Amino acid sequence: MIIVMKPNSTAAEIGAVIASVQKMGASPHPIYGEERTVVAVVGETRRISPQAFMKMPGVERLTTISAPFKLASRESHPDDTVFQVGGYRIGGPEIIIMAGPCSVESRSQLLETAHAVKEAGAHILRGGAFKPRSSPYSFQGLGLKGLEILAEARETYNMPIITEVMTPDAVAMIAEYADILQIGARNMQNFGLLHAVGRIQRPVLLKRGMMNSMEELLMSAEYILSGGNYQVMLCERGIRTFEKYTRNTFDLNAVPILKQLSHLPVIADPSHATGRWDAVTPMARAAIAAGADGVIVEVHPRPEEALSDGPQSLKPERFAELVRQVKRIAQAMDRTVPEPIE
Ligand code: PEP
Ligand code: MN
Repeated sequence: MIIVMKPNSTAAEIGAVIASVQKMGASPHPIYGEERTVVAVVGETRRISPQAFMKMPGVERLTTISAPFKLASRESHPDDTVFQVGGYRIGGPEIIIMAGPCSVESRSQLLETAHAVKEAGAHILRGGAFKPRSSPYSFQGLGLKGLEILAEARETYNMPIITEVMTPDAVAMIAEYADILQIGARNMQNFGLLHAVGRIQRPVLLKRGMMNSMEELLMSAEYILSGGNYQVMLCERGIRTFEKYTRNTFDLNAVPILKQLSHLPVIADPSHATGRWDAVTPMARAAIAAGADGVIVEVHPRPEEALSDGPQSLKPERFAELVRQVKRIAQAMDRTVPEPIE
């Protein structure tokens, strides 16, 4: 349910509505829009009396949210969600480019890559320190050492960091280093992890599971939002199909559909979606043309030596070309790619 406040309602009136919702045993989530405030009511709503709210000062009307993902839906929050990471705005008119290696492999590899992607125009540096590998015998990441290397690159190149968190107990530790917490495809329905990132105030990039529907992705986002963390990005990274020429099938449909269903920013990952470097730039262009708010791309100075995901990693000069092409598509879509902050 949504309690729509009048455009001129006061802070005291909004506060009284929030307190009443709590008293009736449900969870209030106020959404402060430019024109008016609405209070989304989720959780235990059986004791909520619409008549009682209609009588309260400042209340205009009550509506119900038909989608099962209440807080993630556009019905509860018609305006796009926009939030800041470093000096960049995500979800607004600007297109944000995140780039870096699949895994942090060494100090020199990460610093070299960070330098190259920043030069090419990337805003946010990606790099996995704790890796969710399909085989226990594959490289599992450098762990804490990887986080320390990421922190050094962050300082040296003034780039916010995105890195993956795999378990609920690691959330606090990863949040000490990362500007954005990534939840990987394999953990999209790790509900303990979703609860844990919902309790902190740090942006989260939530990747769609390779076998999950868009609705399941939005329900997972709902876990995070209902915990009180509203800074969530949805990431389309490809789903499994019968097709063998690509590692996954990039579900481009998800971009416009998620934008319609939800107010949350949508980021495309053409690296994992295709699994091959020669398809990454075309699909990055397509994602921006379809309305994505940004891309996350794997880049490695020597992809043939990469310890993970080499075949889908772009060399720095090819990544620079991707940025040039994305800028042109962004312009056609009346959007801009900001210059990286020095
Ligand atoms: C990654 O970003 O390197 C990764 C493991 O992605 P995904 O969870 O989408 O497979
Ligand atoms: Mn990867």
